[in-house]
Amino acid sequence: MKKSPVLIVGSVAFDDLEMPSGTFNDVIGGAATYSSIAASLLGPVRIVGVVGEDFPDAMLADLDRRGVDTSGVERAKGKSFRWRGRYSPDLASRETLDTQLNVFADFRPKIPASFKSTPVVLLGNIHPALQLEVLAQIDKPRLVVADTMNFWITGEPKLLDEVLKKVDLLVINDEEARQLSGIHNLVKAAKDIMRRGPSRLIVKRGEHGALYFDTHGAFFAPAYPLEEVLDPTGAGDSFAGGLIGYVARVGDLEPHTMRRAMYFGSALGSFCVEGIGPRRLLEVTHADLESRMKAFTALVETGGPVQIPE
Ligand code: AMP
Repeated sequence: MKKSPVLIVGSVAFDDLEMPSGTFNDVIGGAATYSSIAASLLGPVRIVGVVGEDFPDAMLADLDRRGVDTSGVERAKGKSFRWRGRYSPDLASRETLDTQLNVFADFRPKIPASFKSTPVVLLGNIHPALQLEVLAQIDKPRLVVADTMNFWITGEPKLLDEVLKKVDLLVINDEEARQLSGIHNLVKAAKDIMRRGPSRLIVKRGEHGALYFDTHGAFFAPAYPLEEVLDPTGAGDSFAGGLIGYVARVGDLEPHTMRRAMYFGSALGSFCVEGIGPRRLLEVTHADLESRMKAFTALVETGGPVQIPE
């Protein structure tokens, strides 16, 4: 695999966010939006999704300017997908108040011919039947990454099992890993999930970092400790975007590449939570990314081997 673009399929949305700091309506959101912005800091992105007539052209143009090819974003008659969430005062949990699928209800992803041979693919959190439809339309990629959620784990277990068989890397949170496997212990849960298909698994644990599992064992990347977190919406999607952006830029799937990619995922997740919606993520420069990677290196640097002293 050479240095390559990434293909991201998923939701592009308007979010209404009830945060402890206030309510923010009509914020640009959607999992594919966050992942694309994050991945675009590392290389070219191709996005496939659907928006309604109400979605601003300026936002798509902004994505294009960042190297996100939006020619696969269909504009359908009607309103864009809308999600409304309310966060707890400590931002540690949230509840979905409303989900209006709108144009997303009839979404059937159509992968443009020029996108079909993209080597790195991220299947965002959409109906597993649609994830399978995407896979049926593309040439065998080098790395298929997928996200899912509790709704599909309980609602579409058979289809999700089909997806798992075709996925190389599943990226889910700890609650989803437990639900998917029926096992509380995350190491055992990871083994169970990997037996069902993916040779690699990432279990995100929010502010407690993320665990990576592959055939070589487990690896941990912390979340970057921030003094102020404004909005966790999209952090997981930004993590996935940063991770695949790095892998596609390096152009190999070596164990150390995957491990380093975890840090890029964490870094992009940390930028995301610093602003309401994707506001902060949209401002991040290469210099910002470089300095956060330095800070990350310092965070885990021990200055030598960690061993029992003589
Ligand atoms: P995250 O915080 O990483 O879970 O991602 C939040 C984003 O996911 C928001 O911008 C929402 O627009 C989007 N979202 C919420 N619910 C769904 C859903 N059922 N399907 C697809 N995207 C969703």
